[in-house]
Amino acid sequence: MSMKIKTRFAPSPTGDLHVGGARTALYSWLFARHFGGEFVLRIEDTDLERSTQKAIDAIMDGMNWLNIDWDEGPYFQTKRFDRYNSVIDEMLTAGTAYKCYCSKERLETLREEQMARGEKARYDGHCRDSQCSHSADEPHVVRFRNPLDGSVIFNDQIRGPIEIANQELDDLIIRRTDGSPTYNFCVVIDDWDMEITHVIRGEDHINNTPRQINILKALGAPVPEYAHVSMILGDDGQKLSKRNGAASVMQYRDAGYLPEALLNYLVRLGWSHGDQEIFSIDDMKQLFTLDAVSKSASAFNTEKLQWLNHHYINHLPPEYVAVHLSWHIHEQGFNTQNGPQLVEIVKLLGERCKTLKEMAQSCRYFYEEFDEFDADAAKKHLRPVAKEPLELVRTKLSAISDWTLENVHQAIENTATELEVGMGKVGMPLRVAVTGCGQSPGVDATVHAIGQTRSLTRIDRALAFIAEREAQQ
Ligand code: GLU
Repeated sequence: MSMKIKTRFAPSPTGDLHVGGARTALYSWLFARHFGGEFVLRIEDTDLERSTQKAIDAIMDGMNWLNIDWDEGPYFQTKRFDRYNSVIDEMLTAGTAYKCYCSKERLETLREEQMARGEKARYDGHCRDSQCSHSADEPHVVRFRNPLDGSVIFNDQIRGPIEIANQELDDLIIRRTDGSPTYNFCVVIDDWDMEITHVIRGEDHINNTPRQINILKALGAPVPEYAHVSMILGDDGQKLSKRNGAASVMQYRDAGYLPEALLNYLVRLGWSHGDQEIFSIDDMKQLFTLDAVSKSASAFNTEKLQWLNHHYINHLPPEYVAVHLSWHIHEQGFNTQNGPQLVEIVKLLGERCKTLKEMAQSCRYFYEEFDEFDADAAKKHLRPVAKEPLELVRTKLSAISDWTLENVHQAIENTATELEVGMGKVGMPLRVAVTGCGQSPGVDATVHAIGQTRSLTRIDRALAFIAEREAQQ
């Protein structure tokens, strides 16, 4: 019988879900899905000072928006303190942990002496084998009895074999004076209890791994595989920060990205499959393995993310894209009842937009009157020479009884033919007239989507604008 693969994402709820965390979650999730295994969400909220409900909600919102689903959890470490403490008590009995009564002052002095000698600060094992007797209520911490000799070796699934001498590791505090278990210990017990087979996490946790392995071994627990994912750098090669690309997952939603684009972007940020760039979620689940994850840091690249977003806006079913667009239109605060279906907007504007926010911002004229003509566009295109083409195209458009794209197109084309002018001489003034600005999708499709009555009214408005301008000269 082969072992069931089980992975987890274990965020500390101290802020939003950022790209780094989202990528770690994605890799863990894909790995589980690839092998038909299970994925656990665990909230590591033991740091009571820094953990907030707001952050818990924000992390889950981010996961939900990305559609990264979990099979178990969310578990909360703060709800498992009894379990951690009972294991610590068992370890005290078994002798794999011991009580340490060293005072802060003693530890501080020790540290200073070690530093002065140019040594690494570490606990010297003073209480490890001490025979002194202590009363039950004397303040103490509990330390793990780390092996003194030998070394910890693990085969990192991304970075290869890693070996750390036990001499480098001192006796880790697993329970504080106030009785609360420490972070590294909780992680170990959770990974054990939750039967995690593969721990996939950020490289900032590499130093914790040998300590965690030693504790697992002392408990007689199975040791999972570990895979440490490299950092993400900003688009300037510096550590990722707010300034150079770091943003929360929800900020990408707000900026108009589709979850599919962000996921595709994140999966490629440190993983590859030949020179393929476009990966559907199914592709990812099918193809993702840890051996193709890169050891080196990856740099964030906003242009590539935009390129992917543009791709997905134009390749996912327009009905689906429209659902996301509708969220952005709601943000912009206008009503789309009196105008084309959003699916039409996606088809019309998809090619021109890198983000859905851009699309929502530039489709308003299909639904609402604009305040005024864009000054530059009007100056250029709503001039006296435009009067004749606008009047003739208005006549032809108003004569259409079956408002189809083909008929609208014919009306515009016939106007140009009759007046013996290029299409642009009709199209540009007409575009500015009906949209208020100089850019839009094809003018026939635009006029068609805006509708007959509304287009005619707007042409009248443009003609009035030209007349007023003439009168002023
Ligand atoms: N809670 C840790 C973090 O948010 C992750 C710990 C782990 O994955 O083992 O960085």
